[in-house]
This record gives sequence, structure tokens and C-alpha cells, in this order.
Amino acid sequence: MADQHDHSHDHGHDPIEMADVPGYYEVMETAIRELLIDKGLITANDIRRQIEVLDSRTPAVGAQVVARAWTDFAFKERLLADGRAGCEELGITFYDDTQLIVLENTDQVHNLIVCTLCSCYPRPVLGLPPDWYKLKPYRARAVSEPRKVLAEFGTVIRDDVEIRVSDSTAVVRYLVLPRRPAGTDGWSTDALAAIVTRDAMIGVVPVTLESPLTLENEAA
Ligand code: FE
Repeated sequence: MADQHDHSHDHGHDPIEMADVPGYYEVMETAIRELLIDKGLITANDIRRQIEVLDSRTPAVGAQVVARAWTDFAFKERLLADGRAGCEELGITFYDDTQLIVLENTDQVHNLIVCTLCSCYPRPVLGLPPDWYKLKPYRARAVSEPRKVLAEFGTVIRDDVEIRVSDSTAVVRYLVLPRRPAGTDGWSTDALAAIVTRDAMIGVVPVTLESPLTLENEAA
């Protein structure tokens, strides 16, 4: 029998796409948003403005903080004492109630950040987390076998260097202050910021002079 389901006919209907059906969380978000607006607690403009703020945060913000810490010792000390206050000094606003702890990598200690529970991330200074940060393999293995996870990112940590894994929470977020690479003496903060990558501030790679991508490319 010939195939009677000939798909060469002109479709008189719209393609059927499951994505058109809102999911549970989308329905929930719409309902709560509309309620909040109806009750006068927030306005549609508040939401739009907040989305604009969130979209403006990229790893370039964190890279400026790192570059400043590399070039200004007193600033670095203040940043390590209170990460949030240090960032605020540079005009970076925190739109939420999160605290920020900055962890300095040295030749003795390598820091790695994770959220074992979900995807808590220093969004005010790095923007949205990468997909792998939110996935279970990273969340589980960063804690159980960090050295192996780092090696998979191409980062081999010497046996005599301690690896510290910090688990982010809803209120406490971390940012890694990577080591400044050799050969950058006298560089401007902008030149230094350009080599600081998102992944280096999560702690999965060091900052190197070979970083091939600009932050704009990474964010795209
Ligand atoms: Fe989380």
C-alpha cells in the first residue's frame, strides 16, 4: 500500500508547537505578577525596570572588581573583608538581599564555587549562571571530587594546593578573586579586566594571557 500520508500538501493550519502551551511555572508567574499589579504592590514598570537591571549584569562587572583588586591593595583588603561593600564602592548596586563573599586564590589555596542545592550565583556581579553550573553533575561532583572536576575544565591543581569549595545559598554568594597572571605588570585596570573570564571568577579556570575570547564574545 502506498504511503497515504503525503506531507507535500499545503498546510492550511498553523504548525503545532508544544511550546505554545504555558508550563506550570509560567502560569504561576503570570498569575502572581497580575495579582501583585492588581493589588498595587508593584507596577508593570517596576518589573520592566528590574529586568533591565538583571540584563545589564554580565561577567564584565565582576571583571572590573577583580582588576581593581589586583591594582589597588587597600581596595582588595576592603573587598575581602566585605565583598558587597567593596562592590558598592565601585558603584555596583545590589538589588537583592544577598551578601557577597570574595575568596582570594593564592599559591596555597584554590577556591571553587558551587550551589549544591540549585543555582545560587553572584548575579549582581556575574549575571546569569552558565548552564553547566545549574546541572546536577557539577553541583554534586564539585563537592565530592573537585580536583577531578577542575581537571575536566583543563585546570590541574598541584597536590600541595588546597582546594576549598564554597556552597552558595539564597543569601550568601561567592566570587572568586583569581590570581593575577605574571607578565601583566603595569597593565591598566581595563586591560586587566579584559582577560578576566566568567569561569575564572567561578574558580574552574585560572586567568591566563591566552584567554582568546573577549567578555563581549562570551556573553553573546
Ligand atoms: Fe541555589
